[in-house]
Amino acid sequence: MLFSDSMVSNLLLIAILTLVAGGAVFCLIAAFRTYLRYRGDRVVTCPQSKEPATVHVKLSSAAISSMFGKPAVRLDECSRWPERQHCGQGCLAEIDLAGQNCLVRNMVNNWYKGKTCAYCQKPFDELHWHNPAPALLGPNHTCVQWNEVRPEQLAQIFETYLPVCWNCYIAETYRRKFPDRVTNRNWERGAGGEYVPKETGTEVQTKTESK
Ligand SMILES: [Zn+2]
Repeated sequence: MLFSDSMVSNLLLIAILTLVAGGAVFCLIAAFRTYLRYRGDRVVTCPQSKEPATVHVKLSSAAISSMFGKPAVRLDECSRWPERQHCGQGCLAEIDLAGQNCLVRNMVNNWYKGKTCAYCQKPFDELHWHNPAPALLGPNHTCVQWNEVRPEQLAQIFETYLPVCWNCYIAETYRRKFPDRVTNRNWERGAGGEYVPKETGTEVQTKTESK
């Protein structure tokens, strides 16, 4: 006899364990891929109001269900809740269609990328999410970090605000908080302190520097 009964049993056990381990790894990979796909806040157009809304997919149920087939995607947060908590979540179709394009972090990154800081003219590259959030200079000449704005308002804000790097945001905040500790001098600056080139600027305003 080539194989004894105990050897056959052991081989069978190893085969079963390998299959189980392989299946477990496959399930974990599926869950992790689903988690990566649906994590993060998204801005969608609410099918009911036709207005932008910030939504978040319930990651735990999507990831767990993806181990056994098609992920069950539902929301666990929406900026229109709790008033519309029992809506049909029709925006899930837009999430599937738009994929990563409706992710807030991608919207922000795409807007900043290639632009220059309104104060120091330093160009923005890819945003790194572990770094402090850059800011926005509004028509009212005040600065606010982008993550202080409600995500569903970002698209509208991006149309009229200027990008500001974090260093200039800190300097500008200091200037506004402690105006008696800074010196103003004439420079090629707009009313909000933003850079205005000589050839296109029609008026010379003030620049402030912290001491
Ligand atoms: Zn700057």
